[in-house]
Amino acid sequence: MTVRTRVAPSPTGDPHVGTAYIALFNRCFAQQHGGQFILRIEDTDQSRSTDQSEQMILDSLKWLGLTWDEGPDVGGPHGPYRQSERKGMYRQYAEELIEKGHAFKCYRTSEELDALRAGLKESGENRALKPQDLELSADDQVKREAEGVPYVIRMRVPVDGRCEIQDMLRGTVELDWALVDAQILLKSDGMPTYHLANIVDDHLMEITHVIRGEEWLNSAPKHKLLYEYFGWDMPALCHMPLLRNPDKSKLSKRKNPTSILFYQRMGYLPEALVNYLGRMGWSMPDESEKFSLLQMQDAFDIQRVSLGGPVFDVEKLSWLNGQWLRDQSDEQFLDSLLGWAYNRDYAMKIIPHLRQRVETLSEVADKAAFCFNGMPAINEASFGHKQYGTDDIKVWLQYLLWTYEARNDWNRDGLFADAKAIADALEVKIKDFLFPVFIAIAGTSASFSVVDSMEIIGSDISRARIRHAIEVLGGVSKKQMKKLEKAYRDLPVG
Ligand code: GLU
Repeated sequence: MTVRTRVAPSPTGDPHVGTAYIALFNRCFAQQHGGQFILRIEDTDQSRSTDQSEQMILDSLKWLGLTWDEGPDVGGPHGPYRQSERKGMYRQYAEELIEKGHAFKCYRTSEELDALRAGLKESGENRALKPQDLELSADDQVKREAEGVPYVIRMRVPVDGRCEIQDMLRGTVELDWALVDAQILLKSDGMPTYHLANIVDDHLMEITHVIRGEEWLNSAPKHKLLYEYFGWDMPALCHMPLLRNPDKSKLSKRKNPTSILFYQRMGYLPEALVNYLGRMGWSMPDESEKFSLLQMQDAFDIQRVSLGGPVFDVEKLSWLNGQWLRDQSDEQFLDSLLGWAYNRDYAMKIIPHLRQRVETLSEVADKAAFCFNGMPAINEASFGHKQYGTDDIKVWLQYLLWTYEARNDWNRDGLFADAKAIADALEVKIKDFLFPVFIAIAGTSASFSVVDSMEIIGSDISRARIRHAIEVLGGVSKKQMKKLEKAYRDLPVG
């Protein structure tokens, strides 16, 4: 048997360090067994998937050196490797299950589903919706079919009992069938859900080992059942522990930057980031802290993964990055700097905005410093404004952050339009509204246009700086956050 593993990210947003983490372990496992590592793009959620996000995932995994043997860009014998390009092939599998009696068409409306769920809650039954709840009488079924009411295809699942899952790290895991719903396999628009597409593709792509995040463990019973329904061998399953914030909560961008691009822009070396991810729940046999991807692959043993939630701690990553930088020669260090941001391409983004504002070249470094630095050195006093206090300013920045988190196209005009829409909705002059944004981004209001600055430094650093500014202004408490979320939803923007 040739070992074949895959990473299967959904291209919905910034490339996540969790994707790199899972890719790293899949790659090491495949390499260690002389097998192949595949990249598959799971873009069945067409409303959330973007080409830009896919490109960023590919670029950042390559930057980390986590390259693949088969994938959407390099092709391979089991392509296409993008689920949207495979969408024609999933329906037949859903229909095959209907024919075999393992799936059914469900004509329930969302109101009916809500009512069914409310009914379960009321009766105190702690269980998921089952085929028995969802199926209509034969007459109703015929009627809705004749009316052309949209339907989804759902799988049949047992009502109760236990499901045993073999996990490479956990051994036998027992899960309760009562909590497993009659999962939708094919949506009313004809697109498969993750569960159907994932199983069909893993089978067709001859994946032998599914190494994925722990958050998918609860889906394993459905997947096991689907393999049984189709009569296919199931790949071995391995659920990796979730990365955590230092407070042990699930790694989230509210508490920790999660985008690979953030770490790239902050000047971490790809070798150091891969090394750090390799230490998330795993260690070298000799416990050495600094190791390369090659060294990790050579020494790899998945059984050395420990299940205690590994903490992704930026301070420890910085320490490790420092070790990598110190071990470089002067030449290598220079190459890293040039590759990172001290180069012609990046300088040419800054120069058009700067050259009109200096009298001598010696002023440039100071004025451009914020385009290279991490977080600006600011404090609450930096935000002092003649008219508005820090409480107002904090709210503006939080609204702006939410808008910018939702923005895919990171360009100056869009960034300005977002800011203007919020300022108008709050009845604040745009000049006043942008003042704290200048401070957050450039550390001073005497810089060139802040929307140009944000376009230059990029979405990750810009968002991180706005987040940092909110913290500098005292942060937003949980209670206040709830209120703000509501007020933000009610704002007449967008
Ligand atoms: N598309 C899923 C994700 O984004 C893949 C999960 C899996 O590996 O099965 O994480």
